[in-house]
Amino acid sequence: VNLKKHFPVKAGVFRRTVGQIKAVDGINLYVKKGETLGIVGESGSGKSTAGRMFVRLYEPTEGKIFFKGQDISHLSERELFRSVRKNIQMIFQDPYASLNPRKALKSILNEPFATHGLYDRNTRTQKMAEVLLKVGLSPAYMNRYPHELSGGQRQRIAIARALALHPELIIADEAVSALDVSIQAQILNLMKELQAEFGLTYIFISHDLSIVRYISSRVAVMYLGRIMEFAHKKSLYENPLHPYTKALLSTVPVLRKKGAKPRERIVLRGDLPSPANPPTGCVFHTRCPAAIDICQHTEPHFYEIRKEHFVTCHLYKNCKMT
Ligand code: SF4
Ligand code: MG
Repeated sequence: VNLKKHFPVKAGVFRRTVGQIKAVDGINLYVKKGETLGIVGESGSGKSTAGRMFVRLYEPTEGKIFFKGQDISHLSERELFRSVRKNIQMIFQDPYASLNPRKALKSILNEPFATHGLYDRNTRTQKMAEVLLKVGLSPAYMNRYPHELSGGQRQRIAIARALALHPELIIADEAVSALDVSIQAQILNLMKELQAEFGLTYIFISHDLSIVRYISSRVAVMYLGRIMEFAHKKSLYENPLHPYTKALLSTVPVLRKKGAKPRERIVLRGDLPSPANPPTGCVFHTRCPAAIDICQHTEPHFYEIRKEHFVTCHLYKNCKMT
């Protein structure tokens, strides 16, 4: 894969070691401007670690992260602050934990401006009012406190704070997982509207395949720190190649046309192995219904099977589909 072609954001071949745990072990991903990359995986798959590396909350142990063509993998905090901090923001699962409960929302929303020393007081107040309106809240909310808000409203505040500095990339880690389904839909739709309005690029991390399907343009499936499959949403959901992706999708209820054959549910044997001690060969081989001999001792490559459809599996070694 010629990674250099894919701008503005790409993260290439890196290997992070957390203690002895290879939380993320050699992944190749990219997202193009204005798109949403969904990263889906079970807990412990390394997806959050990957997300934190992309914003450089973690420094990669190996490999490179590019943002708009710039290698940000090993920039110092000062250099990051100057070049990319404003441009890449992160939203987390539990806004209650990320919003200081003792601070009124106006001081929470003031943080990004204060950090970067931007604007005078009046301009800041005006910008805060604007950004609140953008996330569907009245500027009167500035004087409220996080505990006075519902979960959905708190997530709107977290989005407002992320938006304040007009970033180009927002990384959302399980951003709607703690919310009720109807509120989830509202927040996802809000994120889509904001994306269209500001040309935002998202990396959306979730364990929920339906949510990822709804919001993403491109999807990566992670398992034990590796990317099992990476493709355009349509290609991945309608034509999954990797045995793990097939098993995951088989558990998601789908609307079928009348008379269409139901998708057979694939039940994986065994439990998720510990990332501290991943299986040899293909990391998925202990649970894979399609495993062959080679899988036990040889790690499969990341094959591009169709245009921009990648899969890490020996079964596709000699395939080139178009
Ligand atoms: Fe299954 Fe082997 Fe493919 Fe791994 S490489 S997913 S074990 S068939
Ligand atoms: Mg996580």
